[in-house]
Amino acid sequence: MRRFLVKRARTENMNDVQPEVEVEQRTENVNDAQPEIEVEPPAPNVANEFNPNAIERDPGKRKQICEYPPDIQDQVRRAYILKGPMQPDLNKYHRTEFGSSRSSRAFSKSWYKMYDWIEYSEWKNAAYCFYCFLFKQPGRAEHFGYEVFTKEGFTDWKHASKGFKDHIGGHGSRHNSCVKHYDDYNNQRQSVASNFARSSKES
Ligand SMILES: [Zn+2]
Repeated sequence: MRRFLVKRARTENMNDVQPEVEVEQRTENVNDAQPEIEVEPPAPNVANEFNPNAIERDPGKRKQICEYPPDIQDQVRRAYILKGPMQPDLNKYHRTEFGSSRSSRAFSKSWYKMYDWIEYSEWKNAAYCFYCFLFKQPGRAEHFGYEVFTKEGFTDWKHASKGFKDHIGGHGSRHNSCVKHYDDYNNQRQSVASNFARSSKES
């Protein structure tokens, strides 16, 4: 080290002398030739590691299930089912003014009792559908009025009961097919659990 400093100082003093410059270059090369920086091992496959506690609770901030890698979508769905719909019990919900009458309306928590699928986003001041979030079929969802309850959020409090009814729709509606998926999913898991309990009792 000391040698290097001395040489360098001399180089600075004698800038025009070629050989000294070469010495300095050689010194730098020697430094470069020191043990190679270790190449970090490739990072583990982060995308496939899923922490069920890290799911976003607010439906207005959530990533859609189809946006997760296919092999973890079922884990994500299960994590949300375990948590249940996001139904915050607030003293006050943000009021929105409607039309020229200047009357204002807000989300009502009584809707949680009437529609068990309703979720409320404090962040967006909007209502969402839990079952459609869980089981909507990607690619078939661009139907008007459907994405409102899964992505954009429903905010038309003035026409809420009509909006909710329209979302539920008829017997074969998208919403009802998601409710059926939800029930099937739960029944399947229950029967797996009871089969397991039975077989462990028998053994
Ligand atoms: Zn729905």
